[in-house]
Amino acid sequence: MSFIASEPEEAITKAEITQQAPAPAPGNPASPSQAESPARPRNAFTELMKPKPKSSPDSKHSHPSTASKLTRVFKDRDGLGAYLANPKAFPSSRVIYHNADFVAIHDLYPKASVHTLLLPRSPKHNRLHPFEAFEDPDFLAAVKAETDRLRHLVAKELKRRFGSGSRKEIEREEALAAAGEDADQSKLPPGRDWLAEVRTGVHLHPSMSHLHVHVFSRDMRSPCMKHRKHYNSFNTPFLVEMEDFPLSDDDPRRHGYQGYLDRNLVCWRCGKNFTNKFKALKEHLEEEFEKWKAE
Ligand code: AMP
Repeated sequence: MSFIASEPEEAITKAEITQQAPAPAPGNPASPSQAESPARPRNAFTELMKPKPKSSPDSKHSHPSTASKLTRVFKDRDGLGAYLANPKAFPSSRVIYHNADFVAIHDLYPKASVHTLLLPRSPKHNRLHPFEAFEDPDFLAAVKAETDRLRHLVAKELKRRFGSGSRKEIEREEALAAAGEDADQSKLPPGRDWLAEVRTGVHLHPSMSHLHVHVFSRDMRSPCMKHRKHYNSFNTPFLVEMEDFPLSDDDPRRHGYQGYLDRNLVCWRCGKNFTNKFKALKEHLEEEFEKWKAE
């Protein structure tokens, strides 16, 4: 059964498929090389999960020679398979957790402050297009439940990183301090709903061959966000949200590529249309990021 009838387009670049990580932006914690740095302080993810061995196979894959590039482009569409085969081989800065059925990882080229991938291990499903894999209701239910678990972890991580600057969190902390230890929790301001800031979904035309669900913060702020197609792959129907599954038989997304990646660039937060001006959108996203954090 074919799920994509028309000419597909991809959300990631050849360099990403061949694992040539972009140069990190100075001081940006979302950059892949800093995420791998042993000097990086352990965060909520790493504290929540058991430590893993320190050796990282990632380093073996950097900068393939030009001669081998084409072969690598093809081969490395299987790059996510390494996490399924041996999650223990990766550091906790890459593999967040793993169990018999799933491996959760940090995306190597994050397109948001926190960008993770959930990889189902089921051999029966994990090489299928997501639309096909999710036709199996039991499998879909299991993936949705695990996606929700990872979503909660991402929300916790957002609170850890940005909570101290959030107006709603500050209001709650102040009310708590004023009311004292015996405060009636139900009367306190609720604080920020960080779960609402986390999105989950699959790409209409995935580039990597192993089934994966994106679980990420909505900010779209990352040095790895470098192209219109990067942005649009998460901000148009090219991202099929997990809550949309099971898809109805007549869902238009079943019928192929609809030019989603070439659409005008529209700010996820304020709706301003940047047409094809990616640089202007990037600058705007920095401003929106500051406002979003402070909500
Ligand atoms: P897509 O196939 O379009 O759903 O996206 C694949 C995702 O995998 C992208 O967000 C890439 O940044 C990410 N990615 C590609 N190679 C790796 C890798 N070796 N480790 C972790 N993430 C990767």
